Amino acid sequence: MDKPVKIRVENLTFSYHQTPVFEHINLEFDAHAITAIIGPSGRGKSTFLSLLNRLWESQPFARMEGKVWILLDGQWVDIYGKTLSKPDLRRKVGMVFQTPNPLPMSIYKNMAFPLKLTGVADKSLIEEKITAALRQAFLWDEVKDRLHDSAFSLSGGQQQRLCIARALVSQPEILLLDEPTSSLDAGAASVIEDLLVRLKERCTLIVVSHYLDQVSRIADTALKLEARGFSPV
Ligand code: ADP
Ligand code: MG
Repeated sequence: MDKPVKIRVENLTFSYHQTPVFEHINLEFDAHAITAIIGPSGRGKSTFLSLLNRLWESQPFARMEGKVWILLDGQWVDIYGKTLSKPDLRRKVGMVFQTPNPLPMSIYKNMAFPLKLTGVADKSLIEEKITAALRQAFLWDEVKDRLHDSAFSLSGGQQQRLCIARALVSQPEILLLDEPTSSLDAGAASVIEDLLVRLKERCTLIVVSHYLDQVSRIADTALKLEARGFSPV
């Protein structure tokens, strides 16, 4: 039986300053799976992720053609169409970057931030969601007694798990991770690998990685981005 698909990329062409990065890309991503993207530096891996949550749109001189569809509640939704607002898209499609980027505030406030933006005001509901997301990100036991400490008091690996937890608090269906362990030591990276595998129950994950051993440990599918586009590994 075919696996259920969560994301469809259709005839995608993208350029910066009229220099194409991709041309006529067609791809599908399996639901509740980890797809790894590998490839040389500067080939367009980060750019590709930015097309899946419209993060590129702030770049001047960037141009995209084609469609990106995601399956939400049984319906294929064009992420550049009118059905889905950009804030709603960003909640459905979370993003985690190479360098952990907690906000300069407490662990608790980092976690509450996305909820406040969406108007969640009930304090006990906020606490419930924060606890659940910190548990999902394998961080709860390490921070439960210091939630009001600065996020910067955490180690690099903990900060990255906080960033994953902060994305999870909005209950995303898709999580994009751009070299999420590149700034971490092997121990911290291994915790994050275990966590990502566990998250497949909840999300569809796309992980850009530089490490082939990491890809072989965590990915269900791997794609290599080369000059002619994506090819299976
Ligand atoms: P990767 O993540 O695979 O290292 P990127 O997606 O960062 O690659 O970059 C792909 C190409 O697009 C590179 O040639 C890079 O120089 C170029 N590029 C990336 N961001 C911009 C930008 N904001 N403006 C112009 N060119 C860019
Ligand atoms: Mg990159």
